[in-house]
Amino acid sequence: MKREVRMEEISDGKLYGPEDMVRAGCGGCEGCSACCRGMGSSVVLDPLDIYRLNILGKVGMDELFSGYLDLHVEDGLILPHLKMEGEGEACGFLDENGRCRVHPFRPGLCRLFPLGRFYEDGGFRYFLQVNECRKTSRSKVKVKRFIDTPELERNERFVADWHYFLLGVQDFLKGEEGRERARDVNTALLKLFFFAPYEGERDFYEQFYERLEAGRRLIGK
Ligand code: SF4
Ligand code: SF4
Repeated sequence: MKREVRMEEISDGKLYGPEDMVRAGCGGCEGCSACCRGMGSSVVLDPLDIYRLNILGKVGMDELFSGYLDLHVEDGLILPHLKMEGEGEACGFLDENGRCRVHPFRPGLCRLFPLGRFYEDGGFRYFLQVNECRKTSRSKVKVKRFIDTPELERNERFVADWHYFLLGVQDFLKGEEGRERARDVNTALLKLFFFAPYEGERDFYEQFYERLEAGRRLIGK
């Protein structure tokens, strides 16, 4: 989602594409789990994350939403995030050895860190958040290898389409009609993109774009 920050303060001043090398390699986070603790509501999930955790990782939907996720509001829009709780405010998927129990199915933002996304012109590029990762001796790694996401081109299209759709919803919610229908629209969008289980035998992106059409109709776009 949107963050109002000055790029020169948080990045190395460069923007990266999937084929570029970036100094983000943190040795598989060996001995460190700082990003899995105390993150508040900042690890926001998208529909692919639900598909990954529920369909691929076999975490039941009830278990997911009651045990591991919470909802929060961003500019009027309700979205799920990884819940940080207990001593040390840890993500529920973090095990006693400080490793991720769902590593192959971890959410997109967990794959991305310490990279971020800079959105422009209907798409986005990556940037390196220089003040975030605690490892001081990071290695250079190709962006697409670091992100470890199959079908990266389709994934990037999905990430951008989802981002700009959410911005459209937030704009809609600021208008008169949006303010009147905010509760119903939020409930419908949560059901459409997050609560209604995806089908494991079908391609995720096909299912997402069907739902996106329905989401756009909901807000009259
Ligand atoms: S899902 Fe895994 S990688 Fe992501 S915050 Fe939780 S424990 Fe860490
Ligand atoms: S601070 Fe760096 S090394 Fe530690 S968990 Fe986060 S990305 Fe990995």
